[in-house]
Amino acid sequence: RTDTVTNKNVVFYLNEMNKEMIERVELERSLRKGIENNEFFLAYQPIINPVTNEIVACEALLRWEHPEWGIVSPKKFIPIAEETGMIHTLGKWILKTACLQVKDWQRDGFEHISVSVNVSAHQLQNNRFIDNIKQALDESALAPRYLHLELTESVMIDRSLTTVEMLRELMEMGIHISIDDFGTGYSSLSYLKHFPIHTLKIDRSFIQNLNKQSPDLAIVHAILTMGHGLGLRIVAEGIETTEQLHMLTSLGCDFVQGYLIEKPLEARRFTHWLERKRKNSNI
Ligand code: C2E
Ligand code: MG
Ligand code: MG
Ligand code: MG
Repeated sequence: RTDTVTNKNVVFYLNEMNKEMIERVELERSLRKGIENNEFFLAYQPIINPVTNEIVACEALLRWEHPEWGIVSPKKFIPIAEETGMIHTLGKWILKTACLQVKDWQRDGFEHISVSVNVSAHQLQNNRFIDNIKQALDESALAPRYLHLELTESVMIDRSLTTVEMLRELMEMGIHISIDDFGTGYSSLSYLKHFPIHTLKIDRSFIQNLNKQSPDLAIVHAILTMGHGLGLRIVAEGIETTEQLHMLTSLGCDFVQGYLIEKPLEARRFTHWLERKRKNSNI
């Protein structure tokens, strides 16, 4: 009979909702505890010039190692960190740690390596954001041009004076701005004229099925032509195959990043990767 079926569905639905709410509350509580207990570290993924094979930068990617759950994906906890404001504490730590680390690599002879740090739109709304950046650069003695901030297109939809002014101030400090996941943000392209941007990162979804027949080829080609026309550098993210690498190289893509080159590595393993690379290029 339909009414009992409906009742069952309602009970089931409420149970599911309950489970989700409990999970969410638990995740939030653990995240707070994780920050207190320093359960976070950064992984670094190389970004290279595909023609010279030289490393130009690395992207810093946040990792949370929960004592019981193991590594939790940033896709799962960053949204909660944003909603609760914990992203500000985390973001400050990320900036400082990334700048100190890259300065260390520069001192070890990798002089021109930059670090690319992901910044969420929420962080820009914090009026202490610029101060946090200055502090990270001060404490690490990293030259500002080696700090790249990865912002998504959602930041550019916000034409408020504060956002524009903030980006200008960052640019005047000498910091580089990259647009992450470019092409997926459903925003108008006109922001490219108004905002001081240096780099576009083509989203992985356009790279995944890149072949001579795919519509993605036309899109990637168009992004490269437009970007270069505007004087921007283009990075392709998510390169997994040599075919993708060859196509992007022949299309004139400036820089590439992806599992084919190397996965994100914790700092010590990234140091080894750098040393191995240096040794091999001297042969
Ligand atoms: P994103 O900034 O677009 O970072 C690239 C993501 O693609 C990373 O996932 C990276 O591990 C992954 N990736 C790199 N190469 C390949 C590849 O060849 N194949 C595949 N399948 N994936 C590849 P991850 O580390 O899980 O980060 C996911 C997202 O979480 C990031 O996307 C970024 O939006 C966010 N995130 C990560 N770290 C931070 C952070 O420190 N701060 C903020 N605000 N967001 C972060
Ligand atoms: Mg990124
Ligand atoms: Mg990206
Ligand atoms: Mg992405």
